[in-house]
Amino acid sequence: MLKRIILKKGEEVRILAGHPWVFDNEVAQIAAGKGAAQRDTVLEAGEIADVESFRKEYLGRAFVNPASKIIARIYSSSKEGVDTGFFKKRIRNALTGRSLYNLNTESCRIVFAEADFLPGLIIDRFTGWPAKKVFEIFEAAELNGENTRKKITFDILCEKLGSPEHWLSIQFLSFGMDIRRDQIIEALAEVLGGHSGIVEKSAPVREKEGLPLYDRTISGSFPDEGIIIFENGFAFLLNLLAGQKTGHFLDQARNRKHGGVWASELNKNLNRKIKVLDAFCYTGGFSVDIAASCAAEITSVDVSAPALKTLRINAELNGVTEKIRCTEANVFDFLTKEVHAKAGYDMIILDPPAFTKSRSTLDDAIRGYKEINLKAIKLLNPGGILITCSCSFALSESRFKAMIADAAFDAERRLTQVDFCYQPEDHPILIGYDESLYLKCGIYRVQK
Ligand code: SAH
Repeated sequence: MLKRIILKKGEEVRILAGHPWVFDNEVAQIAAGKGAAQRDTVLEAGEIADVESFRKEYLGRAFVNPASKIIARIYSSSKEGVDTGFFKKRIRNALTGRSLYNLNTESCRIVFAEADFLPGLIIDRFTGWPAKKVFEIFEAAELNGENTRKKITFDILCEKLGSPEHWLSIQFLSFGMDIRRDQIIEALAEVLGGHSGIVEKSAPVREKEGLPLYDRTISGSFPDEGIIIFENGFAFLLNLLAGQKTGHFLDQARNRKHGGVWASELNKNLNRKIKVLDAFCYTGGFSVDIAASCAAEITSVDVSAPALKTLRINAELNGVTEKIRCTEANVFDFLTKEVHAKAGYDMIILDPPAFTKSRSTLDDAIRGYKEINLKAIKLLNPGGILITCSCSFALSESRFKAMIADAAFDAERRLTQVDFCYQPEDHPILIGYDESLYLKCGIYRVQK
């Protein structure tokens, strides 16, 4: 019989509403046995236990870790056991939620932790070709005929290199998942078939679970030069072992497409080449989409020299090198300089890293978000478009919008919201678990 975590009075309310975490200070008792045989006990990291309310209502089954503040992560509201079959079932369910993706050709997040009822497990699947092979073809071939700009496409690569390969990036972010890695990898192979390589990526939250940090290949291999994937029809170089997070921020795929659509609308309306600032550009996700969509002159700014180096390669692969100027700078300083210089832009993208990962530092983070948004709004020409993002779950949608309203007020400009987007469906949002809604992307037009 499993151990039972019995909560203090009233602590079940959030869990009944769908939140999967139990914090250590919410626990009244850890019990083993029932009735006359019941006794107090302690939990062992990674084991499975049942969670009950103070009145002994059954709340669900959880992975536990007594060393973490999140002492239990509920993975099921029924008494489901955990074995390879369990992981297969969960992964199959997760894939059903990604049926809009073509997994033979597209990269996507196939497991998003708690939101896919696999707490602390993140799996991204990347589909493409080893970069070295692609570069060889790119160098050798006259790709699109003599008079057009050189540009690599998915179809050309299929023709020259055959079907794309698949690689996985896995993050085991809870103790319960970490110790079940073999079952998870077995289940993945059974559900998805083989992969050319599986890379394990760390994240700082592992330390909170008492787990070591390392990025390493755990099966097959990952090419030293990285791989080329396609997103929205454009080629991107990524390196799972050298890049930030998982090497490519899949969660912005759809918003990048919006960037291209709004840029070409502006280009048409203004009837001239548009001036764009892609701030926090990383490897150029937004820059490439926009450059390929219309006549534009794009300034792409990031502090990371390696990210900009990859951006230049991405620009070249997509035939848009002349449209993109890379600037290695701190965006805060860059914006200040541009405001002083009275520069003007038709479109600005702000896609900063999470300025806070907890609610306790939210006020400071909001000041940071407001500063960059205020400066960007000042820099926009009348009718210009602001695409502003926050990937910090601690900043709610309503506070994010209030921050933008504040920035517009201080800049003495009027904004209209033309769209408001979130992360795409491969990063599902679990209702009742607010932490899963983390990416906000507001699209605003600055009125004259
Ligand atoms: N827009 C990108 C993702 C941005 S991730 C895409 O579509 O792929 C956030 C980026 O901000 C990282 O590349 C990081 O290097 C950069 N960054 C963080 N702080 C910065 C700062 N103060 N100034 C400039 N770049 C910064």
